[in-house]
Amino acid sequence: MSQPSPDTYEQGRGMDAHNEVMREVRARNDKSYDPTEPTRVWLDEDNTPDGVYQSLTIILNTGGCRWARAGGCTMCGYVAESVDGGSVSHDHLMTQIEHCLEHEAENIGEQRSPGSRTESDDADEKAGLIKIYTSGSFLDEREIPAETRDAIAETFSDRDRMVVESLPDFVDREKIRDFTDRGIKTDVAVGLETATDRVRHDAVNKYFDFEEFEAACVEARAAGTERAPPDGRAATDESRETRAADAGVKAYLLMKPPFLAEPDAVEDMKRSIRRCAGVDGCHTVSMNPCNVQRYTMVEELYHDGGYRPPWLWSICEVLASTADADAIVVSDPVGHGSDRGPHNCGECDDLVQRAIKDFDLRQDPSVFEEVSCACKDTWKYVMAEETTYNQPLVR
Ligand code: SF4
Ligand SMILES: [Zn+2]
Repeated sequence: MSQPSPDTYEQGRGMDAHNEVMREVRARNDKSYDPTEPTRVWLDEDNTPDGVYQSLTIILNTGGCRWARAGGCTMCGYVAESVDGGSVSHDHLMTQIEHCLEHEAENIGEQRSPGSRTESDDADEKAGLIKIYTSGSFLDEREIPAETRDAIAETFSDRDRMVVESLPDFVDREKIRDFTDRGIKTDVAVGLETATDRVRHDAVNKYFDFEEFEAACVEARAAGTERAPPDGRAATDESRETRAADAGVKAYLLMKPPFLAEPDAVEDMKRSIRRCAGVDGCHTVSMNPCNVQRYTMVEELYHDGGYRPPWLWSICEVLASTADADAIVVSDPVGHGSDRGPHNCGECDDLVQRAIKDFDLRQDPSVFEEVSCACKDTWKYVMAEETTYNQPLVR
């Protein structure tokens, strides 16, 4: 692939151009949202380094991502869901949390499978894992003020684990200690999208480099228990050793950003997963197939016949080939089987999706040997013949 010169970016044909298009596309959205209601909340199950947990996932409605206000990532429609005006008060954010707790109390137990971990097996059981996303960065104090972060940590201090989403620039050991000092194992979910800087910059329009992701992993690890150095010397701060819980990073990768052909996207994911798994502190990789969200550049391309979400076979291929990587690797295809989501032929999508979910919990690649469909030959053809210039070869 040829490399653009630094001048190309300076002449406004790099990020500036992407941002300009994204601002224009987003401006077509004129909906507004209630600041006292979370964007979404649901119960599910998740694989963690400590086993499978019942999880409560919360999408808090905040002022939204700063980067999205500048234009933002080519596939991201989340900002379309955040509150007008750029900020939500502490009281409103805590009201959103109250609504999420009510949802949990009313629905827990209904879809839990035997063996998944909760905080208690009695009638008051609670999800052992809380995941909070904000359509932006939980650790950005313009979205979630320090006071609110502390109050949320206190609210969930009776849980085992938390995941909070953040861009790497806001990841700071002192902020994470709000959680780890209360004994909650904490993971920071970083939307890295790909380990390849060129793809992250030019296809996703995300501004940071892989080395900033590595620095965020260092911060997260420092917030938790400092492990003793390998030569057997004592950890630097022994008091932390006894009271703080571990912290780590969960990398979120984007399978098939716009402008990448199917085989290039598959190769990029395989490489990215291995690179992330090799970073200390990054114990989980979540590979998210791109879907077509409203008010995004991806949607524009999709309407003009220039984008097809990834095949589910591609997800299977990546998961099977990286099953030996030193990290938990999961994928949760959203909108599977639909035209706007990752899909195969329409006949086998549910079956293949089930195999992927099964892999998420068991990490056993043999689950993929049990699914087959005639459309796999079409996918193989796409993998052999699709290029950046003729995509999508098959819709
Ligand atoms: S993907 Fe993340 S960083 Fe990019 S615009 Fe969306 S919320 Fe912001
Ligand atoms: Zn099929």
